[in-house]
Amino acid sequence: MATCPRCHQPIDTQAVRCPHCFLVLKAYGHPGIPLHQASENTFLCDSCRYHEDDTCTFPQRPYAKTCTLYRDKSEPLVAEFKSPLYPSSPWGQFKTWCRRNRGLLLLLVLIGISVLFALR
Ligand code: SF4
Ligand SMILES: [Zn+2]
Repeated sequence: MATCPRCHQPIDTQAVRCPHCFLVLKAYGHPGIPLHQASENTFLCDSCRYHEDDTCTFPQRPYAKTCTLYRDKSEPLVAEFKSPLYPSSPWGQFKTWCRRNRGLLLLLVLIGISVLFALR
């Protein structure tokens, strides 16, 4: 179970506010948008990937205490990409090729059916 970053009481992972100290835990009141919180004497930007690679344009940078886009720079990037864009196995490459050339495959099937009807 998750704990509140302020009062450290157990909370529901979907909770929009902490029921104990009323800290806002989700952005815009939506349970699907986590609002990351800095601890008392730190700023989120100090450990954020987007601060490190200088791609963040948020006005609160570099002193953000809360942020919806925060990404911990110590967490590996590969975890975000569970399925590779370009599969290395031949079967995976074939499936990708078929997905990309659906129109061509459909045309070939139609030509094949037409030839079968013409030969009858
Ligand atoms: S995304 Fe948020 S935490 Fe990260 S650098 Fe920008 S303002 Fe800071
Ligand atoms: Zn709390």
